[in-house]
Formats: sequence, structure tokens, C-alpha cells
Amino acid sequence: MIKEIFKNLAAGKNVISKADLPALSAEEEKKLIDLQKGIDRIFGKSLRIRQVDAGSCNACEWECTALTNPVYDIQRFGIDFVASPRHADLILVTGPVSRQMELALKKTYLATPEPRIVVACGDCTIDGGVYKGSYAVTNGVANVIPVDYYIPGCPPSPGDLLSGFLKLLVTITK
Ligand code: SF4
Repeated sequence: MIKEIFKNLAAGKNVISKADLPALSAEEEKKLIDLQKGIDRIFGKSLRIRQVDAGSCNACEWECTALTNPVYDIQRFGIDFVASPRHADLILVTGPVSRQMELALKKTYLATPEPRIVVACGDCTIDGGVYKGSYAVTNGVANVIPVDYYIPGCPPSPGDLLSGFLKLLVTITK
């Protein structure tokens, strides 16, 4: 693999060209365009997300991360993940909220400027999912902070996340 990369570089070829990437479906492209219109209108062209892993198995994080890869490339629409809740418009929570993360999640919520939006991503966030009933979890995000919108799935795909963000925009503009 490394040899191939160096060979391509030496030959002046792009290691990965746009044509090598899987294309989005027409439906996914439409979702992205609609999402951009909503973000332009509601958030002044910039939606900043603070993602909080509240005890997930990490599969939900992989799907969230995929939103920033060259296929989905959500940064081109003004959506990005930020490190500090103080810079965020939206908190995206994954996991059943483990007891260890309960206080951290509350602090993150309080540190996010109002009007803050909370989106709970994945089945675990609804009622604990596969961890439901364990002594170590709080059985869902709503037991710790208020939730504005749920995106179900185990894990939800990047397409599901895009649809969820779109429906959220419709909900908050009603
Ligand atoms: S919803 Fe599923 S994929 Fe997401 S953190 Fe829970 S178990 Fe993992």
C-alpha cells in the first residue's frame, strides 16, 4: 500500500482522485442541499456541533465521523464539530449516559450557550438500548438533560444523521 502511494506520488498522480470515491445517491445529495438551505437561514451559514460520547460502544461515533469524510464532506455546508461546548450551537450525544459521564454531560449542557439544541444519536440514548437496566447507566439522555430530537438506529448511518438534522431544522422552524 505504502509502495503504491509513493509510486503514485513520484508519478505526480493524486493518491485518491474524486473519481475513486463512492458517489452519493441523488436522494443524499438532495438532503445535503436542503440541509444547507436550512442552516443558511437559521444559523447564519454556520452550525457548530459538540459531540459528547456518554458511554457509547463507539459505533455511533464512527458514523458521526463519517459525516466529515470526503464523501459526505459536511464542512462544505458550514457544519462542523467543535472541541468546546462554548463554541457550539448543538450538542450531539451518543451512548446510554453512563454514571461516569452523567456529571460531564450536565456540565457540557450548561456550558453551551442558549438557545442550545440537544440531539440524541442512537438507540442507547433513547432508553439505554443494549445497556438498559445496567447499574452503570442512566437509561437515556432525557434522564440527565432535556432532549430536542432523537435520531434512532444502532448505529444510525450518516444518511440517517443527515435526515435527522433536516427534520430537526423543520421542527425548530415551525
Ligand atoms: S446505539 Fe448501538 S451503535 Fe450506538 S452506542 Fe449504542 S450500542 Fe453502540
